Amino acid sequence: MRVGARGALLFAAGLAAATGLTFWLGLRATREWQGSTVEAAERRGNEVVTLLAAALERDMKGGHVSVLLKVQERELAQVAPYELADRFARGFARFPYLDSFFVWTAGPGDGSTYAFNRADRRPAWDRDTVADVPYPVVIRQHPEALRSTVLLARAQGRLGVRFTLFEVSIEGVRYQVIAHLLYDGVGETATLKSAVGFLVNLEWVERYYFSDVLTQVQQIIDDPSLSLQVVNNTGAVVASVGPPLAQEATSAGATHVRHFPLAFAEQTLSDGPQRFRDPTWMTRVGVGNETTRLAATRGGTRTVLLLGLGTLVTIVGLGVTVRAARRSAELAEVQSEFVSAVSHEMKTPLSLIKLASDTLAHGRYASPEAIGEYGQMIMKESQHLARLIDNVLCYARITDTTSEYDLEVVDVSEVAQESLDRFAPQLRELGFEVQLQVPAEPALVRADALMLGQVFDNLVDNALKYAKDGRWVGVTVASDGDTVRIEVADRGPGVPPDERGPIFEKFYRRKGTRLRGAGLGLAIVRRIVEDHRGTVDVIGQVGQGSTFVVRVPRASA
Ligand code: ADP
Repeated sequence: MRVGARGALLFAAGLAAATGLTFWLGLRATREWQGSTVEAAERRGNEVVTLLAAALERDMKGGHVSVLLKVQERELAQVAPYELADRFARGFARFPYLDSFFVWTAGPGDGSTYAFNRADRRPAWDRDTVADVPYPVVIRQHPEALRSTVLLARAQGRLGVRFTLFEVSIEGVRYQVIAHLLYDGVGETATLKSAVGFLVNLEWVERYYFSDVLTQVQQIIDDPSLSLQVVNNTGAVVASVGPPLAQEATSAGATHVRHFPLAFAEQTLSDGPQRFRDPTWMTRVGVGNETTRLAATRGGTRTVLLLGLGTLVTIVGLGVTVRAARRSAELAEVQSEFVSAVSHEMKTPLSLIKLASDTLAHGRYASPEAIGEYGQMIMKESQHLARLIDNVLCYARITDTTSEYDLEVVDVSEVAQESLDRFAPQLRELGFEVQLQVPAEPALVRADALMLGQVFDNLVDNALKYAKDGRWVGVTVASDGDTVRIEVADRGPGVPPDERGPIFEKFYRRKGTRLRGAGLGLAIVRRIVEDHRGTVDVIGQVGQGSTFVVRVPRASA
């Protein structure tokens, strides 16, 4: 290979390696990006679950801290319970889980109890008719349904606690009760003066409250790809927003969790039973499951695919370019080979002609017979030169893609006869026996008559050159099915089977061929025959002669 070609190949290899490296770097960057995307999503999940837990905790103790604790002993003593309704109405407006408040004050008999129910969502036990007033609070005096609840709260008063939290069931509905107890006096002698508390309908809370909180939190974080859930103490999901969490995500720990107790009270003030302080419920946030992880994976895969495709295209492009460069280098080589082969071939006959004509011109011949010999030499060499030029012209013509064949219907027998006529003087001189066999009917093919003539000329010329000793040439034309078969046979050395293919290549000359030639004759024959949709082969036994068999499609008259 020449230096330029090797350089180009090295350059292409370098470029391919660089492309491969770029692909590898891209792959790594993509993997890292995928990793960091998932990591960022995890971090976000952690932040969101913290936010959610904080929001829930704040809201759940709101009724206790900002309504109950603000009711002072003094107020209960001096202000008519009715006047508390405004404060409770504000509580209802801010904390949707508050179902009803109650106020008990000590007095004659059992003291007096008032219930303040939501007007828009009255508890099931409050069946009294209600006047059609737009006030948000409905007040009930001595509600029978709350009797046991109030008694329970008062019972706690005997223990001297200021705060109590317990669960009751009223008409089959579960409520959490939070109450504040107010005493007269201090220490051992203190007596319970009043109790103020509220009830939270636990069924309503499971159904609606947590969903509302989740929806609000999701509006704040504004990330619809996150899944937010609240799970109760039995492991059931009571509220959920965002895309569904896959089962495997929750078990594989792709979620973020915070536990909390189901208590609508400020825990630090609580000295109620431990079970209300146990964080048995949880908030759960799912991230990487799903959208983010999937998007990252999908995005990553797509990027890798595109990168791979780009690399492939570049490498294929490089391959094509290298091949094209090699082809053109090869073509240039062939052309220069052709020029040197042909000029070399022309030199010998030309110098022989020059020698003979010089001798004749200067009268340097030994005898008058020598004149004839020199004349013969000039004639032979100029014939050789003429064939060579014919072949060069023919080769130039058939390799020129713009020149076309002049196709017409020709009788192959005629073309064969004409070719033999052209070679008659040489055949005669070399003592050749010529055998021509043609069919009675014209053997018609669609062909360029001149080019078909070239086929015969080259085959007959080769028989003259290489089978001189056999002194016989047989030309046969026959119709054979859809084709016309042409055979040019001789009794020369024949062609060994392993060379029967290569001899049809351009510039190919059999080793040890001493006779002159440019290796073009049979290449031209094959090219012309194939351009006429035909085939050419050589058969025969080595040492007994060769037969060149050409088949060309028959044309109808
Ligand atoms: P050239 O005759 O210029 O060498 P060709 O393409 O015509 O080129 O032939 C290629 C080779 O095939 C020749 O070098 C010769 O060795 C071999 N060859 C061609 N014709 C015959 C033949 N009739 N008998 C034996 N060998 C042949």
